[in-house]
Amino acid sequence: MENLQEHSQFAIDASYVIAAFLFIYGLKRMSSPVTARSGIVVAGWGMLLAALASFLYVFGIDEAARPHLQTNVVLAAVALGIGTVWAWWSGRRVAMTAMPQMVALYNGMGGGAAAAIAAVELLRPGVEHGIAVLLFTVSGALIGAVALSGSLIAWAKLDGRINKAWRMGGQQVLNGLVFLATLVIGLWIVFFAGGHAPPAVVAAFFIGALVFGVLVTMPIGGADMPVVISLYNAFTGLAVGFEGYVLQNPALMIAGMVVGSAGTLLTLLMAKAMNRSVANVIFSNFGAAGDEGSGDVQGTQKPAEASDAAINMRYASKVIIAPGYGLAVAQAQHKLYEFVQLLVAEGVEVKFAIHPVAGRMPGHMNVLLAEAGVPYDMIYDLEDINAEFKEADVAVVIGANDTVNPAARTNKSSPIYGMPILNVDQARQVYVIKRGQGKGYSGVENELFYADNTNMVYGDAQKVMVEMIQAVKSLEE
Ligand code: NDP
Repeated sequence: MENLQEHSQFAIDASYVIAAFLFIYGLKRMSSPVTARSGIVVAGWGMLLAALASFLYVFGIDEAARPHLQTNVVLAAVALGIGTVWAWWSGRRVAMTAMPQMVALYNGMGGGAAAAIAAVELLRPGVEHGIAVLLFTVSGALIGAVALSGSLIAWAKLDGRINKAWRMGGQQVLNGLVFLATLVIGLWIVFFAGGHAPPAVVAAFFIGALVFGVLVTMPIGGADMPVVISLYNAFTGLAVGFEGYVLQNPALMIAGMVVGSAGTLLTLLMAKAMNRSVANVIFSNFGAAGDEGSGDVQGTQKPAEASDAAINMRYASKVIIAPGYGLAVAQAQHKLYEFVQLLVAEGVEVKFAIHPVAGRMPGHMNVLLAEAGVPYDMIYDLEDINAEFKEADVAVVIGANDTVNPAARTNKSSPIYGMPILNVDQARQVYVIKRGQGKGYSGVENELFYADNTNMVYGDAQKVMVEMIQAVKSLEE
């Protein structure tokens, strides 16, 4: 019997070590688009191994006590089964543009799971925890519950289920008070109740944390949600790591810390790429109509026909394409690549320039282009391509706006001043493909559209690409 317990403990520990290795190795592979897909699979195997190894815990329990565990094991297996089938099914059918809200939803579930572990620990009778364990339990509960309700609001906003921003005077004060009250209850549970607070107090603590998550997320604009989701992702990781410490489960601790630090880095990177602080994203009402410094521009926009623009590119020697959010809206990536292939076949050198926050989530453009089959060696990051615009005959802006706005370089009063941008304005000729005079996400006017070397090709990006393909093909006939 003791042998069985020892063996099962060894198998659990060994599985957790292998799982931890797979998480970290998977994450490393995700750092390049070439290996990212396999990185996700590797990390997924790690997660499966860690989840299955947790069931071996049953064999580490006294034989006499094992039958009582049967119901728990069956319930856990059923939950695991339902979760796996649901995630598989929803993951396969989700549209690429709906990916941020799916991430928000799953992220919220992780925070909720961490909070649920804490709730069980805080409501379990007859168990004595030290102060350190209690502090970790309560902190994980607070962070996990905020991540749960906040992520659900983020999901509802991105999915168009909540359209109201819900702003009111004194909001920050109210948020501060709710947070303070929740914190005080949490500290009371740890230091005065020794982890044995009445259920009503524990419930008040969780309600406070959940309400705080809702209050803090509701006023944030829909377009800032990717940064918020990334922040809540970091919260979830931290909460899971804390509860891993409470359960003395190394797999949870390592996975939680990996997610927590990766989420924190991603949040900081996204904020930096927009030249904003994380606090500015959370507390300012960015991108709302009437922002100061939206910068009226004098002059007129010069329209051009899609066919003329296409033929000009056909006879160019170097073309650089800057895609943005509108490409994703129009789902024009396949037609765009078809057009690019025609140019390449005629000997034109074509490169894609990707801004770090083009679109509405990190890597949005890379994912779209990969989906259309664009080879990775045609895709360049901002810092690697910016010097090349000077040598380009044509720069094509397709559904991008803020990420190519020269005001970020030149206009100190502009809300986007200081944000690194793609230097498309330095190309000899610029074509901008967009539907009309619509502003970008920041609500700032774009002087690029009025520049001497810029022509506007108005229309839905997909429709324009079809016309461009026809124009180039008609030359061959
Ligand atoms: P923008 O959101 O600035 O502009 C997109 C443009 O696309 C609009 O001006 C719109 O003009 C045009 N458009 C919309 N639909 C279509 C269509 N069907 N066909 C053609 N054009 C269309 O895009 P960018 O990618 O340049 O910038 C992204 C913005 O999002 C930045 O401000 C960034 O800070 C922000 N952001 C990005 C995050 C990320 O992680 N990537 C996270 C949070 C925010 P029109 O209506 O005239 O067609």
